[in-house]
Amino acid sequence: MKYLAIFLPLILQLAVHADEGKSRVLPFKVSEVGADKSELMKIFTAVQIKDREDLFGIPQTYRIIQVIGKKEFLVQVLPAGKRILWLKTLNEISAADGEVIRDIYAVVSERTRSYTNIQGAKATVRIAEEIIPPPFMKQEAFVSLLKSGKTWTLPAFKSVSCQRCFGDGKLSVLQGSADCPDCDRKGSTSFDLLVTW
Ligand SMILES: [Zn+2]
Repeated sequence: MKYLAIFLPLILQLAVHADEGKSRVLPFKVSEVGADKSELMKIFTAVQIKDREDLFGIPQTYRIIQVIGKKEFLVQVLPAGKRILWLKTLNEISAADGEVIRDIYAVVSERTRSYTNIQGAKATVRIAEEIIPPPFMKQEAFVSLLKSGKTWTLPAFKSVSCQRCFGDGKLSVLQGSADCPDCDRKGSTSFDLLVTW
């Protein structure tokens, strides 16, 4: 029991929602943050990104199949690469065939373009038009939304050394050196962070 007592504060901190299966959640109360705001600022940045993703989706990465012009490209949508689009960018991009362009917010329109593919056949694809990146949430909005009861969950935001195998990934010799079932041999457990007021 003494042994347990040493770790009790930590365990209590971690055990809040960590009892079952995969969804392990640590709460983070913004209203209880003290003078050191460094962790809060990291969390705020993560919430800004998450919030923009929730509202506008994630910026895309494309591989250029063919450069049509400085602002027009025939592209594959990565990572799958199955979808092909005719991408119109806002700014000129000097890129070559086969290169990858990242972090583009684009809206796929109803309009299409036709082109001749490498097999010599005619193909028709949708036009995707880049838009100005949606704005990040401001700090005042973050605080007022929290106060009105809004919460954000940041998936796998915290990684904590496993309390069962103490980071080894394996149980003790006495327990047969089996793979640790709590962390699935990883030695650490990741927690979602539930950001609340
Ligand atoms: Zn473990």
